[in-house]
Amino acid sequence: MRRVFNFSAGPAALPQEVLEKAQAEILDWHDAGMSVMEMSHRGKEFMSIAAQAEADLREVMAIPDNYKVLFLQGGASSQFAMVPLNLLRGKTSADYYRTGSWSKKAIAEAKRYCDVNIVADTETGGKFTTVPEEGSVTFNPDAAYVHYTPNETIEGVEFPYVPDTGDVPLVADMSSTILSRQIDVSRFAIIYAGAQKNIGPAGLTIVIVRDDLIGDVKEGTPAMFDYAVHAKNDSMYNTPPTYGWYLAGLVFTWLKEKGGLVTMGEINQRKAEKLYAAIDTSNFYANPVAIHCRSWMNVPFTLANADLDAAFLSEAKKADLVTLKGHRSVGGMRASIYNAMSEEGVDALITFMADFEKRNG
Ligand SMILES: *Cc1c(COP(=O)(O)O)cnc(C)c1O
Repeated sequence: MRRVFNFSAGPAALPQEVLEKAQAEILDWHDAGMSVMEMSHRGKEFMSIAAQAEADLREVMAIPDNYKVLFLQGGASSQFAMVPLNLLRGKTSADYYRTGSWSKKAIAEAKRYCDVNIVADTETGGKFTTVPEEGSVTFNPDAAYVHYTPNETIEGVEFPYVPDTGDVPLVADMSSTILSRQIDVSRFAIIYAGAQKNIGPAGLTIVIVRDDLIGDVKEGTPAMFDYAVHAKNDSMYNTPPTYGWYLAGLVFTWLKEKGGLVTMGEINQRKAEKLYAAIDTSNFYANPVAIHCRSWMNVPFTLANADLDAAFLSEAKKADLVTLKGHRSVGGMRASIYNAMSEEGVDALITFMADFEKRNG
């Protein structure tokens, strides 16, 4: 069997222990005589898997009791619409940070439903390489909510702080940073994330929403886009993504065994810092992002000579370091180093980069 170091931005690597556990249970889950994939979502076996996964996520993230945890489908991209449909609650505008490719998409979708007030736009010369300084943004007191993208997956730009929006509800697209460290959930009205980066397989979307904010959707909202419908039905209004939910549960157990999010945060910071140090101390590699807001999860970098990109990628692949090609909008390389990427994998990349530079620099 061969396992490579997979630096994909998503769907991304999963912890090997999780895959082994799923493999051991694939034909016969806990003596049920069937796979989790084959179970009724309303049967007692799956209900216990679902409840345990939610309980473990609540424990790992220390989610307060006044928040609902929803296991949905449709990806973070559906949340771009669900957020305004559920949170406008009679208001007509919302505040948005524009800090990269994903926040741009969230803005485009919100514009279908309300006036979007851009409170900060960090695009310069077609690029996003920074976030606004903490405390520099003024919010509209009439805004239904403030939306931001704590980690811009494509640009590798991450907020080093949580914006203080006062009484205006704060919504975060945490697709590529959820579970990377401990956060204070009570600062947020909604946290949402597609699972395929740091939670589990694609097809599952997690939404953590303060319960007093739901139940007043915009007229005409489909039932499937109403948080209250999903909350009332324990995310089983329709058939949920059962296998993804189960695998996410295995990831939550794995996180607990690893020591929880404080420990994960320390490991992730260390992994990122050594990769950035390797980039910064070379004249061959470069990262364009302002130092104070470099992502711990997605590390884009360029080679001094873009003509060497193809050789870099093919030689890296031969060294079992795969999916390092940067997003087409940014170019160069991108190493996504989510929770499942071991420190050993980051070390192997750094060693390869130094060797490639020696031969080509
Ligand atoms: C990947 C990603 C998305 C899109 O997620 P889908 O699940 O594919 O809809 C949205 N926002 C961020 C920050 C992402 O990283």
